[in-house]
Amino acid sequence: MKEKYLLHCPGCGRLFPDRYTLDCPGGCDALLRAVYAERRLILESLPGIFRYSGWLPIEGHLPIDAGPVSYESVGLARELGVSHLTITFSGYWPERGAGMETCSFKELEAQPTALRLREKGAGIIQVSSAGNTGRAFCQVSGLTGTPVVVVVPTPAADRLWTTVPAENVCLITIDGDYSDSIAFGREVCTLPGIVPEGGAKNVARRDGMGTVMLDGTVSSGRLPDYYFQAVGSGTGGIAAWEAAERLIADGRFGSRLPELHLSQNLPFVPMVRAHEAGRRDIVPSEDMPDPEASIARVSADVLTNRHPPWGIRGGVFDALAASGGRMYAVTNEEAQDAGRLFAEIEGIDLDPAAAVAVASLACAVDERFIDPKKHVLLNVTGGGYERAAEDLDRHRIEPFTWARAGAGLDGSLRDDILEWVSEQGVAVRA
Ligand SMILES: *Cc1c(COP(=O)(O)O)cnc(C)c1O
Ligand SMILES: [Zn+2]
Repeated sequence: MKEKYLLHCPGCGRLFPDRYTLDCPGGCDALLRAVYAERRLILESLPGIFRYSGWLPIEGHLPIDAGPVSYESVGLARELGVSHLTITFSGYWPERGAGMETCSFKELEAQPTALRLREKGAGIIQVSSAGNTGRAFCQVSGLTGTPVVVVVPTPAADRLWTTVPAENVCLITIDGDYSDSIAFGREVCTLPGIVPEGGAKNVARRDGMGTVMLDGTVSSGRLPDYYFQAVGSGTGGIAAWEAAERLIADGRFGSRLPELHLSQNLPFVPMVRAHEAGRRDIVPSEDMPDPEASIARVSADVLTNRHPPWGIRGGVFDALAASGGRMYAVTNEEAQDAGRLFAEIEGIDLDPAAAVAVASLACAVDERFIDPKKHVLLNVTGGGYERAAEDLDRHRIEPFTWARAGAGLDGSLRDDILEWVSEQGVAVRA
């Protein structure tokens, strides 16, 4: 093939060029995958994530130097009794060279996604998150001028901040809850020139997150035996599996898929329940009874996705089935203890979700779910908020406009957004 990559549908086997395609043109319920012509991992001499652009669905790169940073742990490894522990850190930790200033691995997703969209001329991206994803997209927008439309509930708007001014964010606040903002975001995507981010269906998102597996493997010279991560959607777990398959095909890093050890935060653990029951589908009444109440009680709210890509072909269920491994349900207290331990021993504060992953590793060793002599890759998905607050500026994103829950896109709102779109000067494919 001439192209750097094509998209492949595991449902029907079709192979086709990328037009910022999120779904199989044949209508399969499956996650498309990027298939790269180059089977060897070629490291580019570019900073941050673009070191791995050989296996990202993009042609160029962005002027951003933030990427995952891996190192061999001494302190935590000794404390837990693990012989070979590689920590891959995504967040802000200048002493280790980690420069994700919004402090989570969602920046690994936002960078290639913004660039892929621009290169395909697909338009302007819309996201409906006031959490780590929303912040990461606003930051990439601030650093590159890439426009983004963000829709969030009014009270959550305070959680969106950047460390550089972000002048190209169209923030729409909704007088309602998250479901209302997601519904409104969907309406906004019916406007010409605005496209949805796509979640797990977005190959740029997954291959961006997959650079954690690439970086950890390159750093230790071999594929790990075990991969630990806290999951909400599980997209990072799918991405790790896909990246590991590419590394196996490369031939230089080992021939066995790492086992996936994925964790959630009690009491909201739908994937843990479905996994224990061996089910390809999540049954809401059994796997996430009383979701509002249990979501309100977890300490790591980025792990509370109600519609994870679990059963879809190529999703989390398949990733676990192919790789082996298991899932963990971690209490708030276990996570807080693990976060404290990590800060004390390794020297950086963690995102509550990353603390859940550390707790799951401690549990795996205690319960002998892993052989402590083998190689572990711990994906520390976020951290460094305290350091970032000391070192960096914090810019609030000012709302562009607002709407009532369920209001729909009325005429004047529509015109305002379209005018904003035309001011961005983005070339949109016909
Ligand atoms: C989003 C997020 C996760 C969960 O990632 P998924 O792979 O999408 O489930 C874990 N930790 C942090 C810090 C996150 O922002
Ligand atoms: Zn298909």
